Amino acid sequence: MSQVFDLLIVGGGVTGSALLYLSCKYTDIKHVGMLEKYAAPARVNSLHSNNSQTLHCGDIETNYSLEKALKVQRAARMVENYATTQPDIDHLIFKYPKMVLGVGAQECRQLRERLDALSANYPRLRLLEPKDIARIEPAVAYAKGRMRSEEMIALGSEDEYSAVNFEALARSFVRQARRCVSKQVDVEYNQRVRHIKRQGELFIVETGKTCYQARAIVVCAGGHSLKLAHDLGYGHHFSVLPVAGSYYFTPQVLNGKVYTVQNDKLPFAAIHGDPDLMVPGKTRWGPTALVLPVLERYNWETLKDFMGIFRFDRQVWNVLYDLLKVSDIRNYMFKNFLFEVPILRRALFLKDARKIVPDLKYGDMKFAHHVGGIRPQLIDKDNRRLMMGAAKIDTGIGAVFNMTPPPGATCCLENAEVDMRTIAEFLGAKVDETRFAADLLINDQRHASKDLPAHIISGADAA
Ligand SMILES: Cc1cc2nc3c(=O)[nH]c(=O)nc-3n(C[C@H](O)[C@H](O)[C@H](O)COP(=O)(O)OP(=O)(O)OC[C@H]3O[C@@H](n4cnc5c(N)ncnc54)[C@H](O)[C@@H]3O)c2cc1C
Repeated sequence: MSQVFDLLIVGGGVTGSALLYLSCKYTDIKHVGMLEKYAAPARVNSLHSNNSQTLHCGDIETNYSLEKALKVQRAARMVENYATTQPDIDHLIFKYPKMVLGVGAQECRQLRERLDALSANYPRLRLLEPKDIARIEPAVAYAKGRMRSEEMIALGSEDEYSAVNFEALARSFVRQARRCVSKQVDVEYNQRVRHIKRQGELFIVETGKTCYQARAIVVCAGGHSLKLAHDLGYGHHFSVLPVAGSYYFTPQVLNGKVYTVQNDKLPFAAIHGDPDLMVPGKTRWGPTALVLPVLERYNWETLKDFMGIFRFDRQVWNVLYDLLKVSDIRNYMFKNFLFEVPILRRALFLKDARKIVPDLKYGDMKFAHHVGGIRPQLIDKDNRRLMMGAAKIDTGIGAVFNMTPPPGATCCLENAEVDMRTIAEFLGAKVDETRFAADLLINDQRHASKDLPAHIISGADAA
């Protein structure tokens, strides 16, 4: 093996491929590579069927604080700015009406307050009265042919980009990166990275077949990132809680995305219904939230990898205990377990989905087999908490590890921006700021995302 990569990315999902694109297009880093264990990009959580295909903007996600909403809004705009300038825009990004539905006095009050808090930053967000809901989503507003009797309002907008095929987006990033002239860009598939070690100034990245050398590495391998970080001696104070999300299909009853108000005590977003980009004529419902001991859904070979990084001990137990002692969370976990039990699951899930469409029938609801992914939620043992959102281990020695639960796909370019800057600084490379801002930060004058980090654990703390 004679070549040395300046930057080698491990994992070709939407996170890794976004970084490939940014580092090729906006830096003077010369030799960039990406290794992916499957035969194509985005076969795991970024696959079109394995996530909710939502471009999260922070407006209808009632589980986001204002700070998180604005951070996600910036990230979503970057994806929009990229996708809407691509020749294959029609395969990448989609406009659907979207809303978060409040049913009952308390939820309606909550949504009105949320509109007050958000409206300055979300000029297109509207309060939707029952007649507006009936116009946009008749199946939501009516029950048995009459307007629903409960108090009901929604917050939403009708003419915004709200859905993305993140698998197609990843492929587009790879294609565009390869078109960058004056760069050496190597993308290798069927290369499963088994081990990473440091030798002098270089990282040695070993797959079953080849040994690669790199001056800097960024690992974007979902839950597997933590395993590779542990190998290198970092992130040992983290464990992982994989939370699977399943979906159900019904015939098409919704025209757009309909989310529901979040129960604040629960760590995962409430279910929603929306059109599936790749399954015309259906409405997709979900995702559920079931803890499973695997790093990839429907791939039991990853059980071993999970066991390697879960490392059950007193500290992990403390975090699990804190979760389970909240009765809402306990009941929610039990219910989500039942959502996977054949026969029972349809009836149970139907009850939740009827909050959105009251006239749904048992016969309409079908479990979506082999659809859905795994959210790799990190357990922070030192601080005794389950971390929500993306986490990053920046070692400070030119190696970064990303773990990316929702809304990780929406945040792919923003996350890549942070990594691009970190690696450029480490390698002494330049970022073409003018071009970057002109292409991706249109309509956004706020600071660079490095000022708005998610959970970045850096330097000695990371070890
Ligand atoms: C149920 C569910 C719903 C979601 N809905 C949304 C949503 O609506 N909107 C949103 O923004 N986000 C959503 N997300 C989150 C989103 O799917 C992820 O954040 C995003 O896809 C993560 O991309 P990634 O590239 O980091 O990981 P992945 O897409 O999982 O890619 C990781 C890649 O690394 C590769 N890899 C792993 N190990 C190795 C190795 N050892 N060597 C080489 N390659 C390796 C894998 O093959 C894979 O290609 C959802 C997630 C789930 C589970």
